[in-house]
Amino acid sequence: MKLGIVGLPNVGKSTIFNAITQAGAEASNYPFCTIEPNVGMVAVPDERLDVLARMYESKKITPATVQFFDIAGLVKGASKGEGLGNQFLSHIREVNAICHVVRCFEDSNVTHVDGSVDPMRDIETIELELILSDLEMVERAVAKTEKLAKADRSLAPTLELFEQVKKTLEAGQLIRTLSLTDEQKLILKGMNLLSDKPMLYVANVSEDDLAGGLGEYAAAVQRFAASQGAGFVAISGKVESDLAELEPEERKEFLADLGLESAGLDRLISAGYSLLGLMSFLTAGEKETRAWTIPVGTKAPQAAGVIHTDFERGFIRAQIVSYNDLVACGSVAEARARGLLRLEGRDYVMQDGDVVEFRFNV
Ligand code: GDP
Repeated sequence: MKLGIVGLPNVGKSTIFNAITQAGAEASNYPFCTIEPNVGMVAVPDERLDVLARMYESKKITPATVQFFDIAGLVKGASKGEGLGNQFLSHIREVNAICHVVRCFEDSNVTHVDGSVDPMRDIETIELELILSDLEMVERAVAKTEKLAKADRSLAPTLELFEQVKKTLEAGQLIRTLSLTDEQKLILKGMNLLSDKPMLYVANVSEDDLAGGLGEYAAAVQRFAASQGAGFVAISGKVESDLAELEPEERKEFLADLGLESAGLDRLISAGYSLLGLMSFLTAGEKETRAWTIPVGTKAPQAAGVIHTDFERGFIRAQIVSYNDLVACGSVAEARARGLLRLEGRDYVMQDGDVVEFRFNV
């Protein structure tokens, strides 16, 4: 899962992003954990992995990961046409969802770029930037398709779609709000437009609002998010950066002192998973216990394909036991004895927490 972070200056993006990258250092045994300045990677918290690793005496635990892209730069220059590096821009456009950090904390020492704390106004400001950035791309697409459509009539529906999208953006509306056919959605997907992506609002609140009820500002953002079918999570940049400094054992205590059950970062990842309709299946063995991310509704062969394309191509069956059954039994042998180890075929729809061994032809 790739998430892009946007927001006005001084709302706490860097604070949150730095807390993320610091926490992410723990996942440094991960093969592709190259640290780039604007990219942070964190492990998806999953206590089931530790339990399985103990049961299977695994040498290694590999959690699923989430990559965060700091897209502050894009938003700042987007409407002024300031270019970013092409490679970075393509990273940004590839994100699965956008996390919009909104300032909901009061602190007279931290200047607000627009003079006062007003989350709803800030949301409008940033959405406008996203819209303007998309508009620039769509205008180019319209111009290009107009030329091509003269020679190729089959492009007429595409041109019509681009024009409809352009009108939507010009009216100040997000592409996400348009109702489109699956075919149209597919065409737009290739363009990776920012205002087409699912949105997760991250209210950066004061410490007090985190443990008690949400303050007025965060509550307004929460209502707005619900009305838009967007995700919402309240976190405190300050608490996150304090947490990032602590050792894992100390974190639980620190959270408990604040009356919190989990770190904001963990809640942010869960909110992203549910917004995007994602879940995890697990593989376990002596070599490695690992979590894999798939969309809810994925069938067994496609889940196998996430591990390796050969597994999907040569898929025969999946041997599955659900995590809860396995833990209740204490071992695979006992699960088998109780008939809880199932062999599933091509049409099996994967469930969260399935512990899987794929059978395949090579
Ligand atoms: P960015 O410009 O959005 O990246 O914002 P920064 O992360 O640089 O934060 C701007 C200022 O706000 C810094 O001085 C932070 O220490 C402060 N800040 C960030 N999060 C919080 C928070 O949750 N509470 C308070 N009081 N200050 C915060």
